[in-house]
Amino acid sequence: MSEEQLSFQAEVSRLLDIVAHSLYSNKEIFLRELISNASDACDKLRYLALTNGDLMKDDPDFRIDLEVNPDAKTLTISDNGIGMNREELIDNLGTIARSGTSAFMSQMENSKDGNNLIGQFGVGFYSAYMVSDKVSVISRKAGEEQGWKWDSDGKGAFTIGETDKQTRGTSITLHLKEDQGEFGEELRLRNIIKTYSDHIPIPIRFKAVKKDEDKEAGEEWATLNSASAIWTRSKSEVTDEQYKEFYHHVAHAYDDPWLQEHFRVEGVHEYSGLLFIPGSKPFDLFHPERKHGVKLYVRRVFITDDCQELIPPYLRFLKGVIDTEDLPLNISREMLQDNPLLRKIRSGITKRVLGLLEKKAEKEAEEYIKFWEQFGPVLKEGLYEDLAQKDDLLKLCRFRSIKSDGWISLADYIAGMKEGQEHIYYISGEDEKALRRSPQIEGFKAKDIDVLVLFDPVDEFWMTTITDFEGKSFKSVTRGGADLGKISGAKSDEDKAESKDENKDELGALLGFMKLTLEGEVKDVRSSERLTDSAVCLVADDGDMDIHLERILRSHKQ
Ligand code: ADP
Ligand code: MG
Repeated sequence: MSEEQLSFQAEVSRLLDIVAHSLYSNKEIFLRELISNASDACDKLRYLALTNGDLMKDDPDFRIDLEVNPDAKTLTISDNGIGMNREELIDNLGTIARSGTSAFMSQMENSKDGNNLIGQFGVGFYSAYMVSDKVSVISRKAGEEQGWKWDSDGKGAFTIGETDKQTRGTSITLHLKEDQGEFGEELRLRNIIKTYSDHIPIPIRFKAVKKDEDKEAGEEWATLNSASAIWTRSKSEVTDEQYKEFYHHVAHAYDDPWLQEHFRVEGVHEYSGLLFIPGSKPFDLFHPERKHGVKLYVRRVFITDDCQELIPPYLRFLKGVIDTEDLPLNISREMLQDNPLLRKIRSGITKRVLGLLEKKAEKEAEEYIKFWEQFGPVLKEGLYEDLAQKDDLLKLCRFRSIKSDGWISLADYIAGMKEGQEHIYYISGEDEKALRRSPQIEGFKAKDIDVLVLFDPVDEFWMTTITDFEGKSFKSVTRGGADLGKISGAKSDEDKAESKDENKDELGALLGFMKLTLEGEVKDVRSSERLTDSAVCLVADDGDMDIHLERILRSHKQ
């Protein structure tokens, strides 16, 4: 049968070179990656079969089988999932499609040590080359007749050609490197599966190697994992390690989760969930096309990992699984789009997550700050996207301010307000350091009044919709009316007032001259108490737009 040779995408070649020569000590994770792929492939077929039962009628029970051949020094991982046709083999195994792998590559650019990065990002299918010097993939797509064989030693090229395969699914054979023989040993494999893949809800089986004398006996398979969906088990049955491994699997992430929540909701609507907040920020958190990482299941059947209705965009850092009892199994993606039940679930999840964050913020303030530093700017998007949650969200917000080195809450700010102070003052811009040096806050500093320093791009947006917190309104220090006179400061106000009176006439003349000179450029020139060291500063009038917002809009030509 004809065979074609094709080159890897240049990036893949580079990746393979790094992987093959890696000194990463946890090489065993290759098995977790391949089993994770096999399990995903079964999920995908199970979903398609909901509307096209013929696809798996001949072989309805999913499984993942491991088989070793001690003589040939090979390990084969087979699944009866969806399989791949020629184009899919070329695309999926010859280019870098997944985000985790491209994140790995971009991190590689500025790091000498690829070893730790392999563990942090996971390199998916390509991790097979940590332990093999050749990999063969035989696959047949469910519903198609033709099987395909993909082969590569991972050195720049692969071959692809037709092959006979009687059953659907994918079979991956690793030709183990000379010094990686341990991955052909049953005990070692059993341990790896227990450690990394116990939560996979499909039986992972090992085919016993037969000795000569029992050649007659039939095939003997032993199941190595618990094979039940982890979120269906009771909490007491699941160890922290198992939760963590499941997180690695669903999130395609290899850090430790910052928070996990395993729950079941009963009553009118029934659903269960296992949600995680990652410990570190994914590199694409702010990409416009970035989606949340929560998979939707209906009665243990995977439906989609792309249900935008399930999670509000400002909680897009969430990862995990929601499994509902109430949707029909054959629900189409279109039906998911404006579904009242999903809306209820989304609002339930939102309240649950915000409640958890509130509890953390209260009980473990330092831990909470770790979350805030990673995901605070995302959460703040909720302040204008989801007005129903605005009060809860404002409570969760943490800020920099001119009087503190760390983070403060709005409640902290209010507790520190001066007598006569009515507003929550803030200054906003792009650069925290520059803001802290800004002449506009001099008067506040002199009076020991705190000012929030806002420098996330998202701040400009919520500041236009949120006017107050617990009865105190937000006010930008760049606005004209910041009336410092009414607030009792630390310094003696009377002394100053006297000396001011003496200069009144001179000041009046100067202001008149400046107004004339700057006519058309500024609306007004006023004397002010807000400056102590600097001579002048720009401010916005009370009814006008904040200066920073005006600049942003102008730069976008609006
Ligand atoms: P990821 O799983 O994150 O997408 P991988 O590198 O692990 O990245 O796999 C790349 C792609 O190859 C998968 O997305 C999938 O489309 C395909 N693939 C890998 N293994 C299998 C398999 N056993 N059956 C079907 N498709 C597979
Ligand atoms: Mg994978």
